[in-house]
Amino acid sequence: MQYFSTNRRSASVSFRDAAIIGQPDDKGLYFPADIPAVSDEFLASLPHLPDEEIAFTVMRPFVAGSLPDDVLAAICGETVSFDFPLVALDENISVLELFHGPTMAFKDVGARFMSRCLEYFARDISKRPVVIVATSGDTGGAVANGFANTDGLDVVILFPKGLVSRVQELQLTRCGKNVTSLEVEGNFDDCQRLAKTALADTDLGSKLFLTSANSINVARWLPQQIYYFLAVKQWKDAKPPVFSVPSGNFGNIAAAILAYRSGLPVRSFIAACNANDAFTRFILTGDFEAKPSVPTMSNAMDIGDPSNFVRILELFDGDAEKLRKMNASYSISDEETAEAIRSVHDKFGYTLDPHGAVAFAALTRHRELFPEDKGIFVETAHPVKFDSVEKILGMNIKGPASLLDLQRLPKRSIEIDTNYKNVKDILLGLAS
Ligand SMILES: *Cc1c(COP(=O)(O)O)cnc(C)c1O
Repeated sequence: MQYFSTNRRSASVSFRDAAIIGQPDDKGLYFPADIPAVSDEFLASLPHLPDEEIAFTVMRPFVAGSLPDDVLAAICGETVSFDFPLVALDENISVLELFHGPTMAFKDVGARFMSRCLEYFARDISKRPVVIVATSGDTGGAVANGFANTDGLDVVILFPKGLVSRVQELQLTRCGKNVTSLEVEGNFDDCQRLAKTALADTDLGSKLFLTSANSINVARWLPQQIYYFLAVKQWKDAKPPVFSVPSGNFGNIAAAILAYRSGLPVRSFIAACNANDAFTRFILTGDFEAKPSVPTMSNAMDIGDPSNFVRILELFDGDAEKLRKMNASYSISDEETAEAIRSVHDKFGYTLDPHGAVAFAALTRHRELFPEDKGIFVETAHPVKFDSVEKILGMNIKGPASLLDLQRLPKRSIEIDTNYKNVKDILLGLAS
């Protein structure tokens, strides 16, 4: 498979090159040259196939020419080595739980797939490969865990000091030896700017092989399709589901739409947004206008200018009208999010995290307009990761035992201000 840049100036490249380059020079995003169709037999046999076989079949055309089948099979086995249960809350609403991975968020899937791809590809790179990632919380933990103790690769994580949750901070600062955590005196946008500056720094580029692990990387983006197939595998209704996806940078929902374009039966999509509503406004008005991000309770979605918007447009052949027919979007306030957490707990005895709560609230609003549509909302993280949930429910939330293990490890991180020189010096230290 070849990948072209959505800006159409940089050359097309293989999966391998797209994964190690991350972002094309022309600042577009890599996009597959064709969208492979899944067969009807495959779709009919989904309920009986093992998860890793589904992952292998879905991913195979996207990595063709870059990963041999045996390597892909091993990577898929490690990528989907935990559960992806679909839990029915009632006859109309189910929740797809994507938090059973090692860092308790859906990003484990993309991070595990990507880290294993890069480990395989790094064997042929002469400069020291360094993965740099800016995170508002969940990405960094998943990437650090995915890459922990991989051979021949370093990872540098930038996160905003004091703006991640207790559990996220644990996951970001108790990492493998090859991971450097930078606690930045600033916000997520500062972290992202520092990472982007480093990636564009040609002086650094002459000494290191720097690449990004954000959701724009195809090796992280594409495997997210897998769990939509795993959801449909468990879906019992004759009519296809509506998927409500809590969206920030829109990588997750863009992967869901890619699965649909490959043939996965889906009724429609809901992009569930918090107060950062650039996409919601686009669906309403047809005009896309990025805005500065505003802080909310579902902070992994506090993004004013979602990178993957261009991929979503591409998935509808650049036709905004087609896109708007298949995608609804709702913007959910923090008050509504808290109310969703309370009411779902009271009514179903189920504890949502703030991101899943946004998706639940959006699906509920949608069903007021389209009561015949049955839906799946995506629970992207475990509620224990967000301190706000305990406050809203006034009770303790138990996390898995692995959390206690993390607490016993010593904290390793470096505090820096937003001056780029700090980051550069640390990166240069890895080159020598
Ligand atoms: C990253 C993240 C999101 C947003 O996903 P995108 O692919 O950026 O839209 C939603 N929920 C949680 C918990 C996340 O960590």
